[in-house]
Amino acid sequence: MTDMTYRRLGRSGLKVSVLSFGSWVTFGDQVDTALAKECLTAARDAGVNFFDNAEAYAGGQSEQIMGDAIAELGWERHSYVISTKIYWGIHKDVVNMANTLNRKYLMQAIDGSLERLGLDFVDLLYCHRADPETPIEETVWAMSDIVSSGKALYWGTSEWTAEELRAAYEIAERHHLHKPVMEQPQYNLFETKKVEREYARLYEDWGLGLTTWSPLASGLLSGKYADGIPEGSRASLPGYEWLRDFVTDPAKNEQVKELTVIAERLGVTVSQLAIAWCAANPNVSTVITGASNVDQVHENLKALDALEQLTPEVLAEIAEITSPFRKR
Ligand code: NDP
Repeated sequence: MTDMTYRRLGRSGLKVSVLSFGSWVTFGDQVDTALAKECLTAARDAGVNFFDNAEAYAGGQSEQIMGDAIAELGWERHSYVISTKIYWGIHKDVVNMANTLNRKYLMQAIDGSLERLGLDFVDLLYCHRADPETPIEETVWAMSDIVSSGKALYWGTSEWTAEELRAAYEIAERHHLHKPVMEQPQYNLFETKKVEREYARLYEDWGLGLTTWSPLASGLLSGKYADGIPEGSRASLPGYEWLRDFVTDPAKNEQVKELTVIAERLGVTVSQLAIAWCAANPNVSTVITGASNVDQVHENLKALDALEQLTPEVLAEIAEITSPFRKR
């Protein structure tokens, strides 16, 4: 198995494993603390040093499980990088505590996350979405203050527009505040717009780092939805009905079949090919993988074997399949 490599998170000095591990959907709904310990251990044994979480995942349970699991495993705090993300809130019925990036919410949300994680600080703190109702300046000041307080080491955003990112960066620069360091966009063979087009200038201009999500498009790129929705899969779960049309889309599943032919030729699985494809983009600092069991963790983290084989010719072949009009 190819050794893990580490990339700088944008222009910051922090190094993150090029493949990382996150807990959306899984921790809480599919993975309890015992299984979390197994998955986290498998990831760490493969060289993963970055673990992604969010306040909203399973209504706070995901942070609780990851925090408990890491405590029980006895990992030393300096040996891993952990994140959380805030915006949606978990006190949905209280004014100011949901769907916001106002100062009051941010200052209280970080304390709640730290309590559930059982930590004094997170390494990375994200604004999980943009909030058009709060001035960006208020959010930037609050995030910078959280970093100054030591409760987070770096801050960033998730799914902001390039325009919002530029505004935040300029406000931080003007007031000598901590600048946003990283963005967390979706990036996979079926979703490339933000990473490849919208943010294109931000990598060079101010060294934006990327921690990308859903490398398998929620499992579609593993090929598991070719013949419908398997029992126990993400799309079969209550609350994820919205995913069903997407993952069973015949045209997309046909593309996955064609990608599988390339993967087989290279001696890897189509999941590994899809994850490696994300890592092949040098602007991606880390590809956050997800898994509902340990076998998936093992399989996915072997994707670096596939990365070595993604020559320009293979990448062109892949582009022909996923987007005949888009060349990398
Ligand atoms: P993926 O697109 O890779 O989907 C992961 C899911 O696909 C697994 O939970 C599993 O679901 C299935 N799967 C994974 N590996 C395999 C395999 N080898 N074979 C078959 N099925 C497989 O990633 P996620 O959507 O989970 O996103 C990864 C992480 O990114 C999240 O955990 C989270 O940390 C972050 N994220 C951030 C978001 C944001 O807004 N900032 C949004 C979404 C995610 P199953 O077995 O149940 O079918």
